[in-house]
Amino acid sequence: MAVPQNKITRSKRNMRRAHDSLVAGNPAECPNCGELKRPHHVCGACGHYDDREVVAQADEIDLDEDAA
Ligand SMILES: [Zn+2]
Repeated sequence: MAVPQNKITRSKRNMRRAHDSLVAGNPAECPNCGELKRPHHVCGACGHYDDREVVAQADEIDLDEDAA
């Protein structure tokens, strides 16, 4: 197994990790409900994308109608 020839100092290790931090997303406001959503994704709150409803919400589905 390859073994490092020299110890990586705390300074060099931390310099390498300087770019590893997570950055916050870039949430966009849903044009339908105003909830913050990920850009280019269906709104998780109302199921709309690009002013269309593409995912029916659970409270809008009538389960009795499907069973009949
Ligand atoms: Zn929405």
